[in-house]
Amino acid sequence: SFTIAIAGRPNVGKSTLFNRLVGKRLALVDDSPGVTRDRRMADAKLLDLKFKVIDTAGLEEAAHESLEGRMRQQTEMAILEADATLFLIDARAGVTPLDEGFANLLRRAGKPVILVANKAEGKRGDAGLYEAYAMGFGEPIAFSAEHGEGIVELRDALIEAVGHARALGEEEAGEDEDVIEGDDEEDFDIDPSDDTFEIEFDEEDDVEEEYDTTKPMRIAIVGRPNAGKSTLINTMVDEDRLLTGPEAGITRDSISVEWEWQGRQIKLFDTAGMRRKARVQEKLEKLSVADGLRAVQFAEVVVIVFDATIPFEKQDLQIVDLIAREGRAPIIAYNKWDLIKDKQATLNELHEKCDRLLPQIRGVRTVTLSGQTGKGVDKLMEAVLEAHKVWNRRISTSKLNRWLDGVQAHHPPPAVSGRRVRLKYATQAKSRPPTFMVQCSRPEGLPTSYTRYLINELREDFDLWGVPLRLFLRKGE
Ligand code: GDP
Repeated sequence: SFTIAIAGRPNVGKSTLFNRLVGKRLALVDDSPGVTRDRRMADAKLLDLKFKVIDTAGLEEAAHESLEGRMRQQTEMAILEADATLFLIDARAGVTPLDEGFANLLRRAGKPVILVANKAEGKRGDAGLYEAYAMGFGEPIAFSAEHGEGIVELRDALIEAVGHARALGEEEAGEDEDVIEGDDEEDFDIDPSDDTFEIEFDEEDDVEEEYDTTKPMRIAIVGRPNAGKSTLINTMVDEDRLLTGPEAGITRDSISVEWEWQGRQIKLFDTAGMRRKARVQEKLEKLSVADGLRAVQFAEVVVIVFDATIPFEKQDLQIVDLIAREGRAPIIAYNKWDLIKDKQATLNELHEKCDRLLPQIRGVRTVTLSGQTGKGVDKLMEAVLEAHKVWNRRISTSKLNRWLDGVQAHHPPPAVSGRRVRLKYATQAKSRPPTFMVQCSRPEGLPTSYTRYLINELREDFDLWGVPLRLFLRKGE
């Protein structure tokens, strides 16, 4: 188990977050005499994570002469006690001097900090989010304690901050190496406050992508129960390693299979929880979410298996949403294609539904196949490799800046109150998924339609279709 602290200036939403994490379980575990009542500590839960949370919000009601001093002291104590701190700011208000004060405190403590830009629902939070990015705590989480947005991102950030084994309570349980090994991405973290970030690009040491084909590629196979995941995996690895059958109620644990395809090392993750583990529907759904999260978390590419005879059920849409938010590379496999009579009409219908119901993964690669007969499985693997490659893409800063000049010339950003918004500089902050940073004279003045234009052009010009793509605007002259 682990402990986190919630810190931030008054009114950023600490209490709302605290209450959301603690829910009805608000049991004060830290109310022994002598312990200051300024801090509240309680058992918290976030999806599949369980931990203790310390809140410093009580201070706000204290109306004390030296409120700031006490707040500082309390925050310091909370940070010391905790394994990681959730640092809240108000995305609508942007970064204030008081926020900066807390930021300094947190930097000095030298413990993991997760920057949460709260009240980020809707468009009004965008500007603050970009400012938050520049604080140097890594990518801020766009959060809404009120609306429950950013939950999955927060969960991931917590796991990253305290370590997989610890976060998931697996220290002693020991383990399934495959499951807790986690993400070993080597993306360097850009610290936007670091001056080196401002270096003028230098054509000479401007490295293009190196796509590493030696590491095992991690693929998760997800989908509703009976979509045909196990059958498909068996066919893929050509071995009856997984238990499958028509009767509901077959259970087994999450599993990974090592395998090779055309010389590439591959690790397949299946999702046990999405099978019928329990009779009680409610229980099943809880399991599905947590286990699905895990498989998706560990994977680079996620194959979403749809039963083509009953596609686009509610659960399918939830799974897709999760994958999109996690930033994994998705592939849709329309399975049981052998059962489809009018293949062309069905395909048209599926494409139409996919565009309409799954806008969050627009341009996703889709494949029709039969896990049972094996027809289409090679096509699936080709699509997986393509998506993986795009997801890992690195584009050089020189290319990006030539591109930026081009798109700006073609379609200049609009003027806001008489002043033109100018895009100065573009760089790829990370890959997996491709994430770009554009420096802009006034990010708050740039309409969303223009950001959308930039994203579309990026996809078009660098062939970045079918994977999530992120773009951050950063203020800079
Ligand atoms: P899982 O729960 O997603 O792992 O699904 P299973 O692999 O256990 O498959 C569920 C049922 O669908 C089984 O009865 C399979 O035989 C059947 N099935 C799986 N794939 C196909 C397929 O491509 N075509 C047909 N006709 N049936 C399939």
